[in-house]
Amino acid sequence: MSIGLYIHIPFCIKKCNYCDFVSYPIGDVQADSYLHALEGEMELYHQLLKADDLSLETLYIGGGTPTCLTGPQLRRVLQASRLFFDWLPENEVTVEANPGTLDIAKLEVLQEEGVNRLSLGVQSFSPGHLARMGRPHGIREVKEAVQMVREAGIKNLSLDLIYGLPEQTLQEWRHTLSEALFLEPEHLSAYGLKIETGTPWGHLEVRGELEPADQDLARLMYDEVQEQCKKRGYRHYEISNFAKPGFEARHNLRYWHNHSYLGLGVAAASYMNQRRWTNVSLLKDYETLLAGRKRPVAEEWSLDLTDEMAETVLLGLRTLDGVALDRFQERFGIDLQAIFAGPVEKMMAAGLLTIDNQHLKLTPAGLPVANLVFEAFV
Ligand code: SF4
Repeated sequence: MSIGLYIHIPFCIKKCNYCDFVSYPIGDVQADSYLHALEGEMELYHQLLKADDLSLETLYIGGGTPTCLTGPQLRRVLQASRLFFDWLPENEVTVEANPGTLDIAKLEVLQEEGVNRLSLGVQSFSPGHLARMGRPHGIREVKEAVQMVREAGIKNLSLDLIYGLPEQTLQEWRHTLSEALFLEPEHLSAYGLKIETGTPWGHLEVRGELEPADQDLARLMYDEVQEQCKKRGYRHYEISNFAKPGFEARHNLRYWHNHSYLGLGVAAASYMNQRRWTNVSLLKDYETLLAGRKRPVAEEWSLDLTDEMAETVLLGLRTLDGVALDRFQERFGIDLQAIFAGPVEKMMAAGLLTIDNQHLKLTPAGLPVANLVFEAFV
């Protein structure tokens, strides 16, 4: 079986004001004891899945901020993952990083250990917005990080940006976009901000002290990123993702094509053999379960055929190529248009879905309101 492997490193310099990912300030934790537990989980799944029969296609080390770890700690994670899940030089191996947590020595470790793609969390080129977001870096660190990545010879760099920030103007977003594109990343992700409950910004919003971005303005910002990326030769291949030809994120495409992946680490999610599961999110629970050689699973459930088909359509529609009707038929033995006749016809009549070259896909009008389309399928 071919899989993608995801490893979660749940540490950051400090918590950003909008973030609801599972991450802990690195100064408050013992990273080595987490890495020990992580190696235990790798060994456990190596045995459970008979890892020798697995073919690993992609490895993604995310977080959190994996590059909060020291060079030797990063080497330890990469070497353990190679020991328990053999991977080849042609595999896509991505590490997420934040500006201010990279140096040449760390990048050399990543290079030596086979990392060939770096995803850098930039978010904005406005010092004011970075400060309000609670990001632990400025613009100088972004530029230094990109320069170091290039000097280290990593040829596949992705930048992450966020639009629709409170009080952000269209002009500020244009500035952020042009600064990001000036750095010529091979890949760009641009996410619309969603204020999550339980975060510092979520609390401010409840108290009426923070205004979410106006939806019409956020829509203009989305139009802008599509336009700018198109002009610079990027292919818009997923709702929020743009790539130079050949640099589409292979790991993420596995998610959108609803293919198997194994997630290791706190709060990591997995999907294999018609089952999904999510790991516990507290470090202490994770380490205790693994010390007893138990799977650190918080929730696990089986999918029936209907669930799998619906998920395949919903995830596939996130890509601009959409869902290939023949591949759907091959995988499930059922005609997509017959099984989902109601939502397909309704959304096509509304001009939000289309069938183009035997692929069911969002129309340009459907892209900004993709969630509305997805709701019709559940
Ligand atoms: S760096 Fe990323 S993962 Fe860490 S707190 Fe900020 S947004 Fe969350």
